[in-house]
Amino acid sequence: MKYFDAHDHLQDFPSEDGLGAALRAAAEAGVEGMLCCGTCPEDWGRVLELAGRDARVKPCFGLHPWLTAEEGWLQKLEEFVRRVPCCVGEIGLDGVKGLPGHEENFAAQLELAARFGRPAVLHCVKSWGRLLELLKAARPDRFMLHAYGGSPELVKDLAALGGYFSFGAEIQDPARARLRAALAAVPQDRLLLETEAPERGAGPAAVIEVAAAAAGLLDRPAEELAALTYANGLRFIGELK
Ligand SMILES: [Zn+2]
Repeated sequence: MKYFDAHDHLQDFPSEDGLGAALRAAAEAGVEGMLCCGTCPEDWGRVLELAGRDARVKPCFGLHPWLTAEEGWLQKLEEFVRRVPCCVGEIGLDGVKGLPGHEENFAAQLELAARFGRPAVLHCVKSWGRLLELLKAARPDRFMLHAYGGSPELVKDLAALGGYFSFGAEIQDPARARLRAALAAVPQDRLLLETEAPERGAGPAAVIEVAAAAAGLLDRPAEELAALTYANGLRFIGELK
């Protein structure tokens, strides 16, 4: 079986040994694609290096809404996007922990993704109305909501704009009824699964447990769900593969 981890931060593994072990475990588990998301100019070089070392690792470059960067960062991002087949992300809106100015940073990066036809990897917390407005203005070709936390009702509007929806270990929690309803509302060709490794000590291989949980919740065979989300991951990255 093949798996696709639609969102991780391999550059954040505390040691080379830990990263090496996680990538070996991922290979044994059948994780054949991973979106490795940069979050600030300081880690973009490392993300590029990791992608150059392992063809399964697809690079994403962006400035996260919790972080700031020195002047000139947007031009630097444009150089990466111009030079490297990549996604733009992790970028987004955060109504709880977003820093002042993050909305402008997000709008500029979304415009960049649209201009270069790159898929965008989005973080969104409590900013759904504004997100819809900015998506309608920028019109990126396609985007994914990582760790989707919006309502089940919003799925249709976001999907119509080109949205994919990614879910992580949180779906394993029976208390998350609204999240589970959102999972069930996603069109099957837009569903993705993720680990956010190395958060909570997980590696990309943990996508297997997420896939098993999603299969149970959607009442589908695990093999079928793995194949579906792997194919969706490849379609999302498109020409990067
Ligand atoms: Zn992330």
